[in-house]
Amino acid sequence: MRDTSAIAIHWETYRGVVVLTGAGVSVASGLPTYRGKGGLWEKVESAKLADAAAIFERPHEVWAFFSKARLHVHKAAPNAGHQALASIERLVREAGHDFLLITQNVDGLHQRAGSGEVVELHGSITKARCSDPGCDLPPFDLQGKHKGKRAPPCPHCTAPLRPDVVLFGEMLPTDAIQRAKHALDTCDLFLAVGTSGTVYPAASFVRSAEYAGARTLYLNLEAMDPSDPAFDEVLLGPAEVLLPRLLGL
Ligand SMILES: [Zn+2]
Repeated sequence: MRDTSAIAIHWETYRGVVVLTGAGVSVASGLPTYRGKGGLWEKVESAKLADAAAIFERPHEVWAFFSKARLHVHKAAPNAGHQALASIERLVREAGHDFLLITQNVDGLHQRAGSGEVVELHGSITKARCSDPGCDLPPFDLQGKHKGKRAPPCPHCTAPLRPDVVLFGEMLPTDAIQRAKHALDTCDLFLAVGTSGTVYPAASFVRSAEYAGARTLYLNLEAMDPSDPAFDEVLLGPAEVLLPRLLGL
């Protein structure tokens, strides 16, 4: 791994910082990557719960699966990578500049580490919402409740509740995408951390940042294959090691 101590970033000199994170940031917290072997989505798929239709056909099985995953997340703690990102946000915001963390993770560990400006592209495993798209119940935090095997009824309309995560075949939340795009259009520093960089629309974010004239960095355990010329710099290593070094720690 390259020595990153020499390339600590002067975060406060950037007017708009956008960081995209993926499962690689949560590995050191003991959470599996989503798409790799044994990952959450592989299990969801093998249990045939990945399709959006499963929410209606087998709401209790979907609920039980994510309840189990939620317990796992509840027991996990943020690691040095999450903490470094929260520190970076503080530095940038204290300088009066803009910061946005866009995450593909559904584990809520960024918020638990102290990150405030977070867009959850794939929703959150810690929240539930109504399975009826027409229902006006807003998503709410489960706070460790409803760990049972059956989906509780919606308090507004009695339809089964569902996890507030984006399943295959479902649209990403529009407000999350709009917030991400707005930040990318005006950023001058973009980092992608712990993500394969191949899943759209997140994979296109670096191009938006490049178009905005931003400096672009890719941090991951493994190099992108094929590599993406839109990234100016590539740092290989674990997120929990690289991110503190970019803070000069
Ligand atoms: Zn409802």
